[in-house]
Amino acid sequence: MFYFQEKQNINLYKSSILDDENLIHSFTTRTGGKTPSPLETFSMGSAENPELLHYVQENRKKICEILGVKYENLIIPQQKHTDNIKIISSIYDDVSNCDGLITDVPELVLMLLFADCVPVIIYAPDRHVISVIHAGWRGTAKSIVKKALHILDQEFHADIKKIKATIGPAIGQCCYPVSIEVSKELEITIEKDCDNIFTTNIKDNNLVNVDLKKLNARQLEDSGVINIDKSDNCTCCMSSVFYSYRAEKGKTGRHAAIASLSGI
Ligand SMILES: [Zn+2]
Repeated sequence: MFYFQEKQNINLYKSSILDDENLIHSFTTRTGGKTPSPLETFSMGSAENPELLHYVQENRKKICEILGVKYENLIIPQQKHTDNIKIISSIYDDVSNCDGLITDVPELVLMLLFADCVPVIIYAPDRHVISVIHAGWRGTAKSIVKKALHILDQEFHADIKKIKATIGPAIGQCCYPVSIEVSKELEITIEKDCDNIFTTNIKDNNLVNVDLKKLNARQLEDSGVINIDKSDNCTCCMSSVFYSYRAEKGKTGRHAAIASLSGI
């Protein structure tokens, strides 16, 4: 179950299945900070507004302070809508051109940035490994979450049945029409029975509304994950709480998915 939690006037969004003494996690929201328009008010990224990077860095320092993790240990990849996933062992690792990170090193802080795309945090408690994934439609079409599970299985020997996976705030089916071509690319990533993940758009029957969060949940289930928590919040409908690229026509900031293992 997802819930909001306010700390030092900042609104965090968390999943109860990741409330574990060995793990620190949060999805951030846009409320409570000081970043000026169009990133108001707690943006973790400034992709389209590099002149506002200073404010973003202050926000990143603030969230690190609230979560009790070190700002110097933040690892923020250059996301490119790929299915590239990197295993991280130090803050000096190359994180250019990747949309998923995995680490078993305590105190490294994985942070990925979002404005409508699907954030996924995966925790393998038996092997003490975390992964944070950015799944837009391109990453979802390439089954990036399945790829992460494959790495957790092959490289870390994690028991997939024990894995806890959370799918955070992202654009909902209500606000996400795509072309028939895109929907077909997405449909082939899951086993039969699409369970209303794809519905014909009521205004334009050449468009298909896709439930990207449910689709990622199905990819996880098809790979054997049992314990999945999925946010019901649509970032586009709730653009006062989360950043939404679609709702704000590209002039927006980024919320983050953050995970860090505490030392054992
Ligand atoms: Zn919506």
